Amino acid sequence: MRFRSGARLDPSQVSDRRGMGPAAVGGGGVIGLIVLVFSLLNGGGGGGGFNVDSPVGRLNETERSSECQTGEDANQRDDCRIVGVVNSVQAFWGTTLPGYEKASTVFFDGGVNTGCGSASSAVGPFYCPLDKRIYIDLGFYADLRNRFGAQGGPFAEAYVIAHEYGHHVENLQGVLDKSRDRTTGPQGSAVRVELMADCYAGLWARGAVDTGFIEELTEADIADGLDAAAAIGDDRIQEQTQGQVSPESWTHGSSEQRQRWFRTGYASTDPTRCNTFAAGTV
Ligand SMILES: [Zn+2]
Repeated sequence: MRFRSGARLDPSQVSDRRGMGPAAVGGGGVIGLIVLVFSLLNGGGGGGGFNVDSPVGRLNETERSSECQTGEDANQRDDCRIVGVVNSVQAFWGTTLPGYEKASTVFFDGGVNTGCGSASSAVGPFYCPLDKRIYIDLGFYADLRNRFGAQGGPFAEAYVIAHEYGHHVENLQGVLDKSRDRTTGPQGSAVRVELMADCYAGLWARGAVDTGFIEELTEADIADGLDAAAAIGDDRIQEQTQGQVSPESWTHGSSEQRQRWFRTGYASTDPTRCNTFAAGTV
């Protein structure tokens, strides 16, 4: 994955809260309210409830990501590459989904306060439907390789971002509301929501070069994305953490399902092909 060196990035789509320290999180008492967030994986509470305390939200953000101005920056700096991916994904949905509303991505480290409550990095990247923001500790990408055994690579990282924006699109479409029951299991609504987001990531990958930000996306890049999708399949994670697989508790889908729905999106230009709720079996 390479960016067009002259492409102008829009760093205002990312808000950078890195370096603000853990003091920013969890200052208040915990209220017994549980809010759903939509995460990349089913680990450490991701996809489940968040404990909500008073959203503090510090305003003097450091904005190192504001230094990301061009595609050349995206080719050279890890954080700028993510800014470029955010820009490309949102440009894609801006021309694909009528009425698309931009959502910003928040970089943080350690922990963060969100409209859905406070969260630590342990939950992995997630989307909060209440404030319509995507949250990621960029340190997750090292976890993706070291803890989940993915090969990594720039497009594996891009897939993670595109998946979370898939949840934002689902929110705009009312899909997240429709699936509030969050039934688990390989055919449950929770898995269908996640597979739709994987499909939307594939759909963006198909259109990524046409957004003007990305110069080249190779089959090796796509293979990195599929490898990442497999690494965070529920069956793979259960094998690693429990030594056994229990499909009835799946919330994100198996490695095979996640790869297949990414491919379904990648083979298409039509978002309706990603409608997992219209599919008999997923
Ligand atoms: Zn997800």
